[in-house]
Formats: sequence, C-alpha cells, structure tokens
Amino acid sequence: MQKLYCCENPLTARHLKNILENNGISCLIRNESLHATAGEVPPILAWPEIWVNDSAQFEKAELLINEATRERNSSTEEWRCNNCNEVNERQFAICWKCSEMRNEY
Ligand SMILES: [Zn+2]
Repeated sequence: MQKLYCCENPLTARHLKNILENNGISCLIRNESLHATAGEVPPILAWPEIWVNDSAQFEKAELLINEATRERNSSTEEWRCNNCNEVNERQFAICWKCSEMRNEY
C-alpha cells in the first residue's frame, strides 16, 4: 500500500477515490472518519488520505489525480456536465457523478 494523496476536504477525497475505482484502481481513504471527531488532533493529521492498494498501479493513479485536480487554480466557475447535467465544482476536471471529462467552453 502506498499513500497517494492528502486533501482537506473529505468530499474531494471521495470524489478522487471514485475516479480511481472507475479506472480499475483499488484504493481506500484513511482518516475519513477521524475528520468528524478531530477534537484534539492537529487538523493536518486528520486530513483524509487516499491510499493505493497495489503499488504497481500507483503511477497510473497519480496521473489520474493530477488530471482531476489540474483545474484547481485556473478556473473560477462551476460547470455543468454535458453527459448527466450535474453541476460540478470548479476544481474537478471530471464529473463526480458519471466521470465524464469536463468540456471546455
Ligand atoms: Zn456527469
């Protein structure tokens, strides 16, 4: 097992896990439950982490994460998926619901 990614938002972690699993990569989220009861834990330690089960898939997983988070700072608008019409937050390059690639307008 190899740690792939750490992010502040559990929803983002879940979204990214979803993308990985849709691409056949076995992974899990650590610290997801800790987040709600973080009380005395320094916040950084309670951030959800995404772990890849098979390190042979790690490189592919990393590319997918980079792809999915690449738009984070370059766009300010929410966008609507052309496939399922779901509204996605701007940092997502792939629809959280159906994994359709974001379309550039
Ligand atoms: Zn969609």
